[in-house]
Amino acid sequence: MKPRILIVYTGGTIGMIEDPVSKALKPFDFSHLMENVPKVKMLDYHIDNIQFNPPIDSSDMDIRHWQSIVKSIADNYDRYDGFVVLHGTDTMAYTASALSFMLGNLSKPVIITGSQLPIGEVRTDGEENLITALQIAADRDRYGNPTVREVAILFENYLWRGNRSTKRSADNFNAFKSNNYPELAKIGLGIYFKPAALRKIDDVRPLTPYYDLDASVMSIDLFPGLEERVFRHQLATPGIKGIVLRTYGAGNGPTKPWFIDAVREAVDRGVVILNVTQCVNGSVHSSRYMGADYLASAGVISGHDITFEAAMTKMMYLFGLGLDVNEVKRLLAEPLVGELTVKSPK
Ligand code: ASP
Repeated sequence: MKPRILIVYTGGTIGMIEDPVSKALKPFDFSHLMENVPKVKMLDYHIDNIQFNPPIDSSDMDIRHWQSIVKSIADNYDRYDGFVVLHGTDTMAYTASALSFMLGNLSKPVIITGSQLPIGEVRTDGEENLITALQIAADRDRYGNPTVREVAILFENYLWRGNRSTKRSADNFNAFKSNNYPELAKIGLGIYFKPAALRKIDDVRPLTPYYDLDASVMSIDLFPGLEERVFRHQLATPGIKGIVLRTYGAGNGPTKPWFIDAVREAVDRGVVILNVTQCVNGSVHSSRYMGADYLASAGVISGHDITFEAAMTKMMYLFGLGLDVNEVKRLLAEPLVGELTVKSPK
């Protein structure tokens, strides 16, 4: 039986061509993309595709696009062995995170990839990324089960867990990294999977797609010099239910009374505040320093080692479920689909 793979083409550099007048890159259609990768035929897979019309630069990605990717996968879930999502790199980590929450009970591979250079360019990384993504989506373990049973990003030499990934370079072919979780596979002469890192599924259940995301969320970045009037203004943004507070180091913020008071008042008004560190690597440790301890005492939830992308989309997902504030807080602090690791308090 040939592996059956569905490609969902959303756009991104991989399928772009140069505008003859402005010379800027713009998204182009799927047939152009496939014409440039004749080698795909050598894989001997059954491949179908669904494409965004029109394909987009991923800077335009929005909740309705995520809903449409989820629908494409959910409507075709039983008919394919795996799914490859072609996507621009700019918001790929957000999409990967969002899909990991929206595709409930996922037990098949959803591999997201794209490229830094368009597929039509001589030195493109798109051809290799597309072919490797297809191979990963088709891969089976020795029991005949899909090797990857989660949303993952394949880029150049690595396969990363989607909701642990971050775009780290605008220039390099190795554009993604998971700073707090090991790679799911290393790509070299072969595809070397890391079984210890891959998500395990004990009991396969029907896919449950969640479409309702609530975008009443925002983020606030701490920086030395942040003034009370600015901070209070941000906290009082109308209609906001959740805030990702990007703190220093191990989750620290100023210990000044006005700062803690402003945070506590927002929490008392029912705003959920999630503490996520600005450091690319490491975790929030709420009891290591006073600055983080004060935030925890004011009712701020620790995001542990979650990425910013996963934190924002997890909040949208939890509020979209219509849960009450305490339930949202409880679920934010624990891993739902491998997006964070709770470490010891110190
Ligand atoms: N701006 C492009 C996008 O995200 C960049 C890329 O694909 O690499 O769609």
